[in-house]
Amino acid sequence: MNYLFEKSCSGEIGYDDILYILGLEAGAELDSVFEAAYKVKLKYVGNTAYMRGIVEFSNVCGCDCYYCGIRKSAKGLVRYTMSEDEIVEAAMESYRLGYGSTVIQGGELRSPEFTRKFESIIRQLKEKSDGKLGITLSLGEQDLETYQRWFDAGAHRYLLRIESSNPELFASLHPSSQNFDSRVDALRLLRTAGYQVGTGVMIGLPGQRLEDLANDVLFFKKMDIDMIGMGPFIPHDLTPMRDSIPDFESKKDSQLLLGLKMIAATRLCLRDVNIASTTALQALAHDGREQGLLAGANIIMPNVTEVKYRESYQLYNGKPCTDENASMCRSCLGRRVESIGESIGYNQWGDSPHFANRTR
Ligand code: SAH
Repeated sequence: MNYLFEKSCSGEIGYDDILYILGLEAGAELDSVFEAAYKVKLKYVGNTAYMRGIVEFSNVCGCDCYYCGIRKSAKGLVRYTMSEDEIVEAAMESYRLGYGSTVIQGGELRSPEFTRKFESIIRQLKEKSDGKLGITLSLGEQDLETYQRWFDAGAHRYLLRIESSNPELFASLHPSSQNFDSRVDALRLLRTAGYQVGTGVMIGLPGQRLEDLANDVLFFKKMDIDMIGMGPFIPHDLTPMRDSIPDFESKKDSQLLLGLKMIAATRLCLRDVNIASTTALQALAHDGREQGLLAGANIIMPNVTEVKYRESYQLYNGKPCTDENASMCRSCLGRRVESIGESIGYNQWGDSPHFANRTR
């Protein structure tokens, strides 16, 4: 499969190659695709995995995405919102553990108070860490002024998944108040504000074709995205999509494999971006994140949220590690990453080389 490596290096991986990769069954041919993607990873971003300690600050959400376990209409879960101090404390735990960066993620609200709260949190984190903690936000769609205030306060990366680059599929997953075009606009606003911009999709959605996924990869490329976070779709019991994939249990392996193929295809096509090996992969197999690293990902997002909140932040069924605290996570991860011959970039930001290349 060396031709894929060569083709990637000359920037020529296109739709047909991606579709071919996504269509492969497990076996020798697919293994050599993963090897080619891994070689591209080594060449463009190296074999160091960078950490972002994730703080899941609230499951109160103004959105009603049909797939998501913390959607506004989900009944029967305990809603929580961490205080400013709790969020700062959890993010600083990520700093103390040597992760170098934090991701602040949660339900999405839009209000002057929400903007102010995170502006203050970002400033405190910068102050307490002497400017050393890298801050990624995942706070949904906001206006340019809000994005700018958070950037000016010290956040420098932002994750906002497009969920699917097919507008019809996007529309089938969201109420009409959540609009595909405004999400694409938000990605542009984030760039204008100066962020390293991350996006991603859910993989294996009902009604999603391999062609859609191939177009998703091309969308990342067209939008000149710096970071990718994507993972398999996993139904959640409290959502309208709970039964959207019949007999999901028996499809876990193929869902995981499709997620890994997307990582490999994205690495081969985009080369120098950061790609997360997401928790959704780990929810499908205990070593799902290691498999993600071997397929071409280079970022891991260990959970640093206080254990008492973790049960309440379940975007999908079977979320792993809800009973482990942050330091247990740290040692477990260290072993896992070393087991595949990689090292962890402790105390480093591990920024997307693509961002440096595009803004040079
Ligand atoms: N409001 C924030 C965080 C949302 S949750 C934001 O907009 O960025 C983060 C991601 O979890 C979502 O973008 C979605 O892709 C993923 N997610 C939600 N429900 C899921 C499910 N059932 N299966 C897999 N991924 C899911």
